Amino acid sequence: MSVSYWNDRSNGRELNVDIAIIGGGITGLSCAYWLQKEDPHLRIAIIEKYEFGSGATGRNAGFITCGSVEHFNRLVGKHGQEEALEIWRFSERNLELLKEEIIQDNASDFLFENKGSFSLASTDNEFAELKESANLMRSMKINVEELVEADIKKRLGAEGFVGGIKYVEDASVHPILLLNGIRKKLGENVFMLEQHEVHQIEATSDGKKVLTNKTTVNASMVVYATNGYSALMNEYFSTKVFPTRGQILATEPVPKFMEGPCYANFVLDYFRQLPTGEMIIGGFRQLQKDTEKGYSDETSDVIQKALNEFLLQHIPAVRQAKITHRWSGIMGFSVDGQPLVGAIPQDEQLLFCCGYTGHGLGLAFHSAKVLTDCVFGRTIPKFISAKRFI
Ligand SMILES: Cc1cc2nc3c(=O)[nH]c(=O)nc-3n(C[C@H](O)[C@H](O)[C@H](O)COP(=O)(O)OP(=O)(O)OC[C@H]3O[C@@H](n4cnc5c(N)ncnc54)[C@H](O)[C@@H]3O)c2cc1C
Repeated sequence: MSVSYWNDRSNGRELNVDIAIIGGGITGLSCAYWLQKEDPHLRIAIIEKYEFGSGATGRNAGFITCGSVEHFNRLVGKHGQEEALEIWRFSERNLELLKEEIIQDNASDFLFENKGSFSLASTDNEFAELKESANLMRSMKINVEELVEADIKKRLGAEGFVGGIKYVEDASVHPILLLNGIRKKLGENVFMLEQHEVHQIEATSDGKKVLTNKTTVNASMVVYATNGYSALMNEYFSTKVFPTRGQILATEPVPKFMEGPCYANFVLDYFRQLPTGEMIIGGFRQLQKDTEKGYSDETSDVIQKALNEFLLQHIPAVRQAKITHRWSGIMGFSVDGQPLVGAIPQDEQLLFCCGYTGHGLGLAFHSAKVLTDCVFGRTIPKFISAKRFI
């Protein structure tokens, strides 16, 4: 996008920094966090079009889950055992890092719970895959537990599922409280530019000029932390990170009945009860594959109706509960389901960290640390490196 003479409100205002990060979601703030930790003297700008957390970071379901978008047996089928385990351990480390660096002893401040998550099967076929996954995971010393129908009814209050598995180490959080927690740790050399839309990036003799509607930011390096919006920023992403919409509804609070957050239907649908009692249900983008691609954050009647029906069919405790919120957000789905960290080919001054395929809370904090490795010239894991596409 370009900015016209008439719309340019920068008034000659300029900010000089070492690194300009575009995007004020969990990726942008996490990148700033790790970069300042590496070198507190670095001057960093985070440039956000709206407010921090207005993208997918403030619109998700708050699951911090390990692994990736598919059952573990499929991950092994695609990557082999060694790399599948590396991918799993990477996301486990993401959670450990969040606990060590941000959450610390203040779990309740973030509505953070570390009670595990569940994958539920409504068909025998899916349950067979879950059992196969559980066997593989146990053989690799990943902590899982199998559940039968009666356990699911008793522990999760959910009906219509034949069996499932529990990923014992998983967690959940209030995503905006988490984002604010990262924000509070950013020092005086991090400049936060909200309501600044980046229109254009120009090359200069020694770096980049990032043109926004209000300020021109001069930087040696730019990081795209724009996840689902990345293809709007740079053509490079158009074949690698696809904007994909996710929809959710939330109910009024009901008395606590669930042990932990759940996925269903091959990780496509999900529901959880918040520590404050509200129920959140999301998914069903498989019903409208075409309209769920793109940048519009409207909700659709078809998917919202399916979410309602899911609630009525599977979760008796909220059948009478009032629905208070319906929303959607844009995720960045990568070609192979794994995040992308690296630099634009032929331009080492344009870096990026994105493509979590609907699992940014489970991946972004650690991925941002890897981005910092990239900035400082260290080797990064192959499965996350964008060089895998060259
Ligand atoms: C409905 C839904 C449910 C989800 N549930 C979960 C879940 O339970 N667990 C999980 O791990 N993940 C979940 N996700 C995915 C997760 O939210 C994302 O992976 C994560 O938030 C990505 O963070 P981000 O910072 O990379 O991107 P975003 O949070 O999208 O941030 C990108 C930012 O870039 C800004 N931007 C874009 N263009 C410009 C520009 N030109 N100039 C300046 N700024 C710009 C945007 O305004 C935005 O704030 C869900 C997502 C959705 C939509």
